[in-house]
Amino acid sequence: METAQYLWEHPETGYREALGSRHVADKLRALGLDVQEFDIPGCVAVYNTGKPGPNICIMGELDSLIIFDHPDCNEKGYVHACTHHMQTAAMLGAAYGLLKSDVKDKLCGKLTFVAVPAEECIELAFREELRKAGKIRYYGGKPEFLARGVFDGVDISMMCHGATHREDEDVWMSGTSNGMVGKIIHYTGLACHAASPHKGINALYAATLGLSAVNAIREKFEEKDYIRVHPIMTRGGDVVNAIPDHAELETYVRSASVKGMVAAAKAVDRAFVGGAVSMGCECRISTKAGYMPTTVSEEFTGLCMDVIPAVTGKKASLDPHETGSTDMGDISTIMPTMQFNVGGSVGAYHSKNLVVPECNRESMYLNGGRVMAAVTYELLKDGGKKANEVKAAYKPEFASPAEYMALADSFFSDKTYKIDIE
Ligand SMILES: [Zn+2]
Ligand SMILES: [Zn+2]
Repeated sequence: METAQYLWEHPETGYREALGSRHVADKLRALGLDVQEFDIPGCVAVYNTGKPGPNICIMGELDSLIIFDHPDCNEKGYVHACTHHMQTAAMLGAAYGLLKSDVKDKLCGKLTFVAVPAEECIELAFREELRKAGKIRYYGGKPEFLARGVFDGVDISMMCHGATHREDEDVWMSGTSNGMVGKIIHYTGLACHAASPHKGINALYAATLGLSAVNAIREKFEEKDYIRVHPIMTRGGDVVNAIPDHAELETYVRSASVKGMVAAAKAVDRAFVGGAVSMGCECRISTKAGYMPTTVSEEFTGLCMDVIPAVTGKKASLDPHETGSTDMGDISTIMPTMQFNVGGSVGAYHSKNLVVPECNRESMYLNGGRVMAAVTYELLKDGGKKANEVKAAYKPEFASPAEYMALADSFFSDKTYKIDIE
């Protein structure tokens, strides 16, 4: 409860979570654990039961959003309008519940507690700066920790996320979700006086043709791939009496599968370049790795859906496919993961109205930790029988973090197209 309140009152955005990270590290140290910290926010502590067995990771995210008109935001607009404050508290709650009771004597293997930075894919310019300076490799905290070896030796991962209060259930399971890549599309034309447009090359028109082409290729997308492309224009001319020589678009390309994401990203590039070809413009497309699609382990989900009602006394449903994206997806390409929702907030997520009313705080903040502790117990009792079953039944997208990184790295590209028709 104290941690949730502290984080709510000290919101920090991705890769800036110095206070939150220190707070969590101190709490983990208070449990007698060795805490590993980094040159970026976030921390890891491993508890070894001393008995051989699987390594189960419990995670919490540290970062806030920026919403200037939220009543509880700080002077920089930072506010936990995605309730990450409660998930990190839940991670600590699970750690305290497991390690401060005799339950731990019935467990085998290892418990890995991780406070991860930077889940929200925001402040991209700041993250690009960090990446260029060699301080991070990926925009998302989980892929970054994956690259730093934090998940080496981990067999199964879990975390919870806050959700809007429901009458009939307190905790329910998240399903699969889309992955995404981010793109900046820059058109370069030729400026001239707008009264003699034949002397210029209109970059704005190239961009609008590119947008039309993207809209036309939507009919090529298949329902099963859940493709979402939602471009915006961030630049389209500076003064009204000049033909714009620069125009810029940004978009995400999302899909439910890695294959779908790669194919859609290529088709979208071709459409954007088509706009440039029409006008004789140059088109530069800069692509950034976002997050991988989340796949779900049926065995793990089944286990959790048995455990949740025993903890909450209420039913637990499974959410349908979510077209948004999270970097938990990246972890799910390597090992079985699960994420569940803990109801209690009111108002839309990522909006100025999101709050956790006082009357819901205790149940919301405690339920996450209770469920993760109970699930961990089920996984690691009896010599880790269930954990081994969950692991054996899961077919991850990639065989190793290195294989994952090879594809994620290939998503970072800068390509310039200038195509002339003879
Ligand atoms: Zn969010
Ligand atoms: Zn979130």
